[in-house]
Amino acid sequence: MLLLSLGAAVHCRPSTLAQLRCDNAHCPQVDPNPKMLNVHLIPHTHDDVGWLKTVDQYFYGSKTNIQKAGVQYIIDSIVDALLKNETRKFIYVETAFFWKWWKLQTPEHQERVKKLVNDGQLEFINGGWCMNDEAAAHYQSIVDQMTWGHRRLQDTFGNRSIGVHKRRVLGKPHSREQASLFAQMGFDGMFMQRIDYDDQNLRKKEKRMELLWQGSDDLGKASDLFTHIMEMGYGPPRGLNWEIAGNGFNQGGDDPFIDDPESEDYNVDTIIDKFLAYAKEYSQYYPTNNVLFPMGTDFYFQSANPWFKNMDKLIKYANLRKSNGSNVNVFYSTPSCYMHGIHFANHTFTTKSDDFFPYANRPHAYWTGYFTSRPALKRYEKVGNNFLQTCKQLDVLSLGKNDDKVTPLREWMGVMQHHDAVTGTEKQHVSDNYALKLYKTIEKCQSVVNSSLNTLIGKSDVKLNQLFCNQLNVSACAVTEGTDNLAVTIYNPFGHNVTHLVRLPVTSKAYKVLNPKGNAIKSDIVAIPESVLNLKERRSKAKDELVFEAEVPALGFATYLLKANSAENIENEVKVTKISDAFTIKSKSLNIRFDKTGALNAIELKNGKVVDFKQNYEYYRAHDKNGGDDQASGAYVFRSIGDTPELYKVGLQSELVETSDAKEVHQKVNDYVSQVIRIWPNRDVIEFDLGSYCGQGCEGY
Ligand SMILES: [Zn+2]
Repeated sequence: MLLLSLGAAVHCRPSTLAQLRCDNAHCPQVDPNPKMLNVHLIPHTHDDVGWLKTVDQYFYGSKTNIQKAGVQYIIDSIVDALLKNETRKFIYVETAFFWKWWKLQTPEHQERVKKLVNDGQLEFINGGWCMNDEAAAHYQSIVDQMTWGHRRLQDTFGNRSIGVHKRRVLGKPHSREQASLFAQMGFDGMFMQRIDYDDQNLRKKEKRMELLWQGSDDLGKASDLFTHIMEMGYGPPRGLNWEIAGNGFNQGGDDPFIDDPESEDYNVDTIIDKFLAYAKEYSQYYPTNNVLFPMGTDFYFQSANPWFKNMDKLIKYANLRKSNGSNVNVFYSTPSCYMHGIHFANHTFTTKSDDFFPYANRPHAYWTGYFTSRPALKRYEKVGNNFLQTCKQLDVLSLGKNDDKVTPLREWMGVMQHHDAVTGTEKQHVSDNYALKLYKTIEKCQSVVNSSLNTLIGKSDVKLNQLFCNQLNVSACAVTEGTDNLAVTIYNPFGHNVTHLVRLPVTSKAYKVLNPKGNAIKSDIVAIPESVLNLKERRSKAKDELVFEAEVPALGFATYLLKANSAENIENEVKVTKISDAFTIKSKSLNIRFDKTGALNAIELKNGKVVDFKQNYEYYRAHDKNGGDDQASGAYVFRSIGDTPELYKVGLQSELVETSDAKEVHQKVNDYVSQVIRIWPNRDVIEFDLGSYCGQGCEGY
């Protein structure tokens, strides 16, 4: 299955960053005559930062049995091809790969590459660490990965490398928020592919394949972004695919130009006729006298020479036809040069002000599966972001001496935004590698947090060794389970004070908790749900969690002292009641009602108004047939059999778990579906902790 769409963003505003390139001096001559059609050939590759193979397997080109793809060879090859001919151009996107390649080059070769960038032959498009997903990625992480990618480019190549010409190549459908973010980052345009097939058919008929995307009602024109939808996808037209190596996935191997007139296989006219026919066809879908041919696709250009040799000839022979009345002008280009070209046309584009979600590439194939695929990795990625913000902030607050130890997490979080990482569309072994690398880079950042806190505490004679609870997702923590006396430090990366419920797995039945001022505060011991205790992977002796409310200042930390078996706190009794009658729990100002099975059925608000609920556990049966007109449900596409979900017919078993403060309803549907509903008396918050736990009996689901 093809993963990609192609998108681009270009920027040419009168800023310091842009001024050197706003003249587009490096761009080829576009023929402004409206009767002439300018065809922009855009050589490119699309290098997933992990998908069927891991990042390293793709970069080095190992595991050829999975896919014949080696990014180091691609970059080697395109650089050599560009050095041979200064009219050639290439765009590169995934800077995570580029820097892996860069550091292996000699200083002399690096200088040659700098000249290619400076001369506009090699252009960084998008410029992020990866080509991020737009649905499952959080905007904070999108900003982070774009910032880091651009910072590295700017530090090495200077202002002229980026900030002017940026293109967007995207793997999944497109969000309006991404358009808004791009506009705010200084992009002027975006080139994309994945829009709904019905929408695309209509736009083609109405010549609306280019538009002005209005990214935000609040920001107005500041969020407007020119958007180009690529009719042919992001690959080359049929018959013009000169990838000879193939990659085991997208085979090329179309006939090269045979231009010896004496040869029986002479085919110049055949190929040029085909090319001109494509150009004429595509020009029907676009409103100006410019069309764009993306020349490349997934992991292409492992051997750049056949591509450039044949594209050189394509340009030469197609332009020769002009002397015979052809109105097609063809040249090497980039998305930024394309933007420059359409600027002459002075066209007013139609507008759009919503998402391109949900995306279907054909009937029954809505790409909504990846919104929830691999939920464990999606959660872990969010944990990574939380830790990255903490790590960055503490390093800066303690006068930043450890940036080199922050960078691995910063870069791996960049990888995690990739449209086959956080989306969950990667293979299992790749997902495992994403999680392992995330763990390792978080660990490096933990050493930064440790040293930063020591600096901030400011006692040179005391060195505190901070330990971390990395398995709270399964209510396990060797640190809190292994000692009776503990100092717990909580950091708040927000710019405002927070009150946070801290939950720590513990083995003692009573604790005294002291706040940073040394005053005892209330705490509770709450039983860990059985569904969590039964997790096969869990290694923990803790059957309870200690819960207390911590107050943490903005961009600050608070340390709480815990002492086990304290006589003062021994009244911490837990009462567990099997539910057989309807009951009500009071929060700060709400009455929360449950029926006799323990299902939530109403909330009475402060003003007496009752909001009714019906809580059921239901599931969709996945469509499992593929081929022909059939589309199976999977990591990308969600497709159910029928529109109505099915109800779990087994009765709900529930328990009310109460302490002096906490109230929890533990619901169990079966051995692999359960939920905890938590209510804290001082808060009007109802917390739902839904678990699809794989305990006994869930094999095969
Ligand atoms: Zn991709």
